[in-house]
Amino acid sequence: MPATHDAQDGKAIETPAMQELFEKLEDAEKGRQHAEKALKRLERAVDTMHIGVTITDLDGTILYTNPADATMHGYAVEELIGENVDLLAAPEHSRLAVEQVLRVRVWEREAVDARKDGTTFPVLLISDVVEGPDGPVAIVTTCGNLTERRRAEQQLIDDALHDPLTGLANRALLIHHLERSLGRARRQKNYLFAVLILNIDRFQVINDSLGHSFGDRLLVSVARRLHACLRPTDAFARLSGDEFAILAEDISKEIGATRVANRMRGLLAAPFIIDGQEVFVSASIGIAVSSNGYTQPDQLLRDANLALRRAKARGESSHEIFDTVMHQNAVTLLQLETDLRRALERREFRTFYQPIVALDTGRVTGMEALVRWEHPSRGLLAPKDFLAVAEETGLIQEIGWWVLREACTQTCKWQSMESVSHPLTLSVNLSRKQFTQPDAVKRIGNILKETGLDAENLMLEMTETAIMNDAEPALRMLSQLKALNVQLHMDDFGTGYASLSFLHRFPIDTLKIDRSFVVDMGTRPGASEIIRTILALAKNLNMRVIAEGIETKEQLTELKDLECDLGQGNYFCRPLEPAAATAFLRDHPPLV
Ligand code: C2E
Ligand code: MG
Ligand code: MG
Repeated sequence: MPATHDAQDGKAIETPAMQELFEKLEDAEKGRQHAEKALKRLERAVDTMHIGVTITDLDGTILYTNPADATMHGYAVEELIGENVDLLAAPEHSRLAVEQVLRVRVWEREAVDARKDGTTFPVLLISDVVEGPDGPVAIVTTCGNLTERRRAEQQLIDDALHDPLTGLANRALLIHHLERSLGRARRQKNYLFAVLILNIDRFQVINDSLGHSFGDRLLVSVARRLHACLRPTDAFARLSGDEFAILAEDISKEIGATRVANRMRGLLAAPFIIDGQEVFVSASIGIAVSSNGYTQPDQLLRDANLALRRAKARGESSHEIFDTVMHQNAVTLLQLETDLRRALERREFRTFYQPIVALDTGRVTGMEALVRWEHPSRGLLAPKDFLAVAEETGLIQEIGWWVLREACTQTCKWQSMESVSHPLTLSVNLSRKQFTQPDAVKRIGNILKETGLDAENLMLEMTETAIMNDAEPALRMLSQLKALNVQLHMDDFGTGYASLSFLHRFPIDTLKIDRSFVVDMGTRPGASEIIRTILALAKNLNMRVIAEGIETKEQLTELKDLECDLGQGNYFCRPLEPAAATAFLRDHPPLV
């Protein structure tokens, strides 16, 4: 430590001022050591960082680089010192940042760097100015490798655009491809493409019987097999469960799309073997071709879907190309649905009645209620014009309950007429959607109570197909209905596939022989035999029989000979509106 020496005895004399000076010097020394240590620590930290750090002078000459930066770029630290920093940038990119950094002080950007071996990679660079006493002296740039982050981002994008099970494009990506193709079709006059939607027939059955994981593996195999036959330019996507879509680019008219469809179906013809189990698969295909002036991907998908539904309706393993008639039908259907909803509000439905006649006496024993729609512009519509849509949309329930209430009220009025001496029965048709409604029994019970009709005078008619469609739940429902004390009729008997074993378990009172058998009587050999058989069957099962659609005297005579109990048909009387039906009940003589 520096000191002042006394001239006489050589002993150091420390004045307070000097002491203060010594202390300051000592502090400065400590500060320097401290700063040096801190710098060392910082250097070590920078040296061991994963992020690259370079310091360059204002010309871009590298003054310092940390090992991370050198390694990231495939160099040793020594190789970089003294080089221009652009050595680290990919061709056509620059690392020189002086101007921008001086302007903005801290400059952050994404760029592309190059390794010593020429390969490139994405980086995030942040440059900062190092200020000296007279202004900027150097630039520090940190460099982060973005490869991993980009990969993760790409993965996210891929996941969002692909189906995880098959790895195929999903709907979103397909729509993107469709947009591109639509753009190309706008620019290129003769460019045509097609969308094919392919749905595996009866896939639900496979899934239900062999299990979902089996179903999944089957879907993957189907996807693989189909994918192999597509051209590289065609896009292939999975839209949902068992539904795939193919965007077939650059086809020559419809025939090109048909060829693709046939190829697909041909490919599926060979069995799939999964877990040693052989499965046969077929598919239905709907096609929309770009020549129809489409502007949006959704329109193409919608029309391909409509065509698919048409193909499905035709039967398994077929394809159908969308045409404008199909579109018109779809529009009409939609309009019909809207009109039907409105018809309920506007009370446009009517109940017509057709007499049911005892064939031996000619007496009218009952009436069947048949719904009609008084359409404001199309006139009186029969069930065939609207019932299917009403079923599909569920509107049949509301319509059906309305008919039941209306007809019960009407029948009570008829029962009090003098000319109707015996209790007139009422037959009302119930759709499957109605009688499987959980509160069906309660509703019917309530309507009977409100209108005052005796339960035993009500016959509920359900078609054979509706009952047999799902026989077990139908059986439960029918038993509950039976408990109300109403009678149950199986309508259109012979057109469905009632198994005899079921038939005798059902609490059915009457079979209504379908009109198609009565029409054939006397003209087609065997038709009368069928009726004879049904009559024998009914007798054995203790059921009554009504023959529907009697149109001629010959038919009536033959049915009487066969000892059929009851009949109904235009020969006796067409369905009548309520007032006409009342007049008929009042005035008619026995009908046979
Ligand atoms: P359905 O219950 O079998 O009714 C008999 C159908 O045959 C009626 O047709 C009737 O008009 C017709 N018909 C009767 N006699 C003859 C004949 O001699 N010749 C010919 N060619 N036809 C005859 P409609 O009224 O058009 O009803 C058709 C079907 O619509 C009914 O068949 C029934 O299944 C259903 N339906 C009618 N009204 C209702 C209803 O209110 N609810 C439900 N769910 N279905 C109904
Ligand atoms: Mg009926
Ligand atoms: Mg019928």
